[in-house]
Amino acid sequence: MFKRIVVPVDGSEHSRKALDYAKALAEKFNSTIWLVHAFPQTSDLLGYNEYEKLVARREAAGQKILDEAHAHLGTDLDVREELLEEPATEAILNVAETRQADLIVMGTRGLGTLQGLLMGSVSNKVLHHAKCPVMIIR
Ligand code: ATP
Ligand code: MG
Repeated sequence: MFKRIVVPVDGSEHSRKALDYAKALAEKFNSTIWLVHAFPQTSDLLGYNEYEKLVARREAAGQKILDEAHAHLGTDLDVREELLEEPATEAILNVAETRQADLIVMGTRGLGTLQGLLMGSVSNKVLHHAKCPVMIIR
């Protein structure tokens, strides 16, 4: 059980907390962790002369989030990464499906600034549509 754990990360304190839980589970179950970070699509800006630079900047920012998450998990675990230019919910659900995840561990909230919301839109949608168990960390 829990051989393949998907952990979506957005660089927030919430997703760091989710990483701590995923790490503890992975150590116990000898799991592979798939880190996923999605960044916004820029295809609507095709042709715009700053396009390439914008994508490169977003990609670099996303890779930095993955690097930090990877470092947070340490070097003893089997950790893989997916950096995707796609809406976050789709990216997370697609990776969970293609990697045949048996668990998704994510934060209740993320970087969003709307106070009062109990759960962010990404965690809410993943919870509703995932085909595997989802652990939402408070
Ligand atoms: P909202 O984005 O709806 O304004 P929020 O930012 O507070 O609200 P979510 O975005 O749903 O909340 O974040 C919940 C969790 O979803 C995060 O802790 C993280 O695990 C995951 N997540 C959010 N955004 C991304 C992303 N771009 N890539 C990967 N995982 C993400
Ligand atoms: Mg968010």
